[in-house]
Amino acid sequence: MSTIELIEPATGEPLATIAQATPEEIDHAVRAAEKAFETWRNVAPRERGRILQKISTLIRDDLEELARAESRNVGKPIRDSRDEVGLAADCFEYYAGTTNKIFGQTIPTNPKGVLMTFREPVGVCGIIVPWNFPIAITSWKVAPALAMGNCVVLKPAEQTPITALRLAQIAIEAGIPEGVFTVVTGPGSRVGETLIQHPAVRKLAFTGSTEVGTRVMQLAANDIKRVSLELGGKSANIIFGDCDIDRAVASAVSSALGNAGQDCCARSRILVQKTVYDRFSQAVVAAFEKVRVGNPLDDSTEMGPLVTSAHRKRVMSYIETGKKEGATLATGGSVPSGKGTFLQPTVFLDAKPEMTIVREEIFGPVVAVMPFDSEDDAVRIANDSQYGLSGSIWTRDIGRALRVARAVQTGNLSINSGSSVHLEAPFGGVKRSGLGRELGMQVLDHYTEWKTVYLDISG
Ligand code: NAD
Ligand code: MN
Repeated sequence: MSTIELIEPATGEPLATIAQATPEEIDHAVRAAEKAFETWRNVAPRERGRILQKISTLIRDDLEELARAESRNVGKPIRDSRDEVGLAADCFEYYAGTTNKIFGQTIPTNPKGVLMTFREPVGVCGIIVPWNFPIAITSWKVAPALAMGNCVVLKPAEQTPITALRLAQIAIEAGIPEGVFTVVTGPGSRVGETLIQHPAVRKLAFTGSTEVGTRVMQLAANDIKRVSLELGGKSANIIFGDCDIDRAVASAVSSALGNAGQDCCARSRILVQKTVYDRFSQAVVAAFEKVRVGNPLDDSTEMGPLVTSAHRKRVMSYIETGKKEGATLATGGSVPSGKGTFLQPTVFLDAKPEMTIVREEIFGPVVAVMPFDSEDDAVRIANDSQYGLSGSIWTRDIGRALRVARAVQTGNLSINSGSSVHLEAPFGGVKRSGLGRELGMQVLDHYTEWKTVYLDISG
């Protein structure tokens, strides 16, 4: 059996050995899901809800163990892992409540007929997730899929399969019938593509890079598979001169360095009005230098290592490009001595909209700060991006806040806040950041089909 060796990012030591699913095993999982679909779709919605609620309870019972596993696998601070596992539990609880609240209609038509709609599950869903928020992103796809009566074959990222495998065990303990939810592990190129192309998979839900998302969409086209995509970002943090600067600085740090910047919603472009540019820049640099980087299992750690040494290399090459292109490296930019894939929090000042570090997603603890003059300038610079996932606006002027919020091309935005994901609201991107919305009630559209039925009652 071929396997993948996982390395613990904080220590550089071996962590686990993971199997790579063979094409036969993937086929077996999909065929089992296809068979289980006939059972699962016919389980009374209330009972499906109870099982999902049980999954939520079991996740919460295991919160500390799951959080430690995630921290060791991804390198993220334990406090963040606890929040994330909590979100996974919240997510199963939320969708547990939806199973009997999605329903069809009777539609007024001619007196000789009754026109009805049904909401039906799609079938077998192939779900592929990245390594940055493994259990959270897995849950916000798997929970709504199962709630609507679909079956799931999940492929976690090859770097971070551990909590997904544990979640599948939990699902069985909670009473999910065999075949309804299966995990296949291994690399995207083989395991992912085999899953995507399996003829019995009817819907694909993908979170990851825009590059791979493009490939997923192309492969999905062959069989007209339903597809939803959550992809990359390069979100703008727009700082107006009239805002509460201290709060904006604190948020600029956490919204750029959360998960060591390996966050699709990271505010990695900071646009600062000229009137406060020097003051704000100095404060951000000072705050980046105070961030506690260290052991992810330590409660006081604010930033851990990057996920792998290969990924750190990629981030370092962007830092080199930033220097070459003439941005001012104000702090960070180098690798600390010692074990683990750590990287110092890095600030580039005086960046320009055409620079690579402003245009491309770095996915590491690196921000590019640049000045702007007017409100119109800020909007123009913010929208000068292939991406449109998230963003923040900082101002005390409510008219301006809402004008800019309307003008920025993005799927999610926060005003005087760095928050991005709200379980109860739609989440997703515009432009090359993705297709479709997750979370809230909107995601349920991806996991249901409408069926229209006309009954002739004329006699
Ligand atoms: P990635 O695209 O390299 O991989 C994501 C997943 O796809 C992994 O499971 C991987 O094994 C699989 N994969 C890779 N190649 C594949 C192929 N040819 N066919 C099928 N599957 C394949 O992304 P990553 O490096 O794991 O994560 C980083 C990216 O994810 C960033 O671009 C980030 O912005 C994005 N992301 C987006 C969101 C969002 O909600 N928009 C959330 C988290 C991460
Ligand atoms: Mn990748």
